[in-house]
Amino acid sequence: MKKIPCLDLKQQHLNVKKEVFAAFEKVYEDTAFSGGKFVEDFEKNFSVYCDTKYAIGVNNGTSALHLAMLALGIGHGDEVIIPANTFIATAWGVSYSGATPVFVDCTKDTWEINPQLIEAKITPKTKAIIGVHLYGQPFDIDAVQAIAKKHNLFLVEDAAQAHGAKYKGKQVGGFGEMACFSFYPGKNLGACGEGGGITTNTEKYNTHLHSLRNHGSMVRYYHDEIGFNMRMGGLEAASLTIKLKYLEGWNTRRKEIAKKYFAEIKNEKITMQIQPSFTDSVFHLFVVTTENRDAFIKYLQDKNINPGLHYPVPCHLQKAYQNLGYKVGDFPNSEYLASHCISLPMYAELTDAEVQTVIDIINQY
Ligand SMILES: *Cc1c(COP(=O)(O)O)cnc(C)c1O
Repeated sequence: MKKIPCLDLKQQHLNVKKEVFAAFEKVYEDTAFSGGKFVEDFEKNFSVYCDTKYAIGVNNGTSALHLAMLALGIGHGDEVIIPANTFIATAWGVSYSGATPVFVDCTKDTWEINPQLIEAKITPKTKAIIGVHLYGQPFDIDAVQAIAKKHNLFLVEDAAQAHGAKYKGKQVGGFGEMACFSFYPGKNLGACGEGGGITTNTEKYNTHLHSLRNHGSMVRYYHDEIGFNMRMGGLEAASLTIKLKYLEGWNTRRKEIAKKYFAEIKNEKITMQIQPSFTDSVFHLFVVTTENRDAFIKYLQDKNINPGLHYPVPCHLQKAYQNLGYKVGDFPNSEYLASHCISLPMYAELTDAEVQTVIDIINQY
């Protein structure tokens, strides 16, 4: 029997190969390899898709977070509140700026940042909150934004897993000062290469981000501040413009698969992510929890299903952040998730038969 992986990028790329290669040829002929026309085209298309005024393409999602912090003036001595259960890059963005990430726990059932725990973490040094739309499901933006407004903090969305997700009917990407996206190949919208982007409705951030990603320069060889080489590549941008046309269809298929998992997986040993009515997730990942994870993983692998782990160690317990002094027990929900989570196969090209196989095998566990 064929193995069913957590993620398989091959079929998606076969489906768009002709179009993407034709676009590569244009980039090649124009030698527009770094920045330039194809990046500008993608930025325009992506801002339209996100319903924001601006989108700025960069070299990856981690850079997007890093530059977002810098554009907000965040640096040494500042604190930024982020969830403990996220991919580590959310924290990197804060650390690269010189600021300190301050972690908060997620809720027990949605696994998204718990707004009720944020205020206790606010100090005179706090400058911003980065909410993460984890697994493709929007966090409770209104609740977090109300706290940000009350305490005069910036709100940034980490939308790296949530291209096209909606909160109360509106596309993510335009809720805070800025939103950061990743176009890593495995994301819902992934480049043929590395990529990232920032969306915003504020002109001054747009201008500043353009400069920061390009050596702190708006006029060639004149540098207004210490900047970075974090431009998006032309080949990556051209592939993204093609793939963006398919994103809604791919997301629709992911939702269809998720709907089937929710409706048809009936096993008391398996707990699923609660989807509040205000969210419209794009299911970057389909994560469940189970008490005896090792046994469940072995069972699935024996049946030719390869699950994933997102993520086995919460940020506050990573060795890299040892110096911050967190300990086991600080964030029980994030810690529970880390030691019990498991990601089921989820990508648009899964066939109905494969989805049914996954469901049947889990129901027999
Ligand atoms: C993937 C991801 C990032 C980082 O993006 P890269 O393009 O891999 O640098 C940041 N935050 C979250 C939540 C992610 O999933």
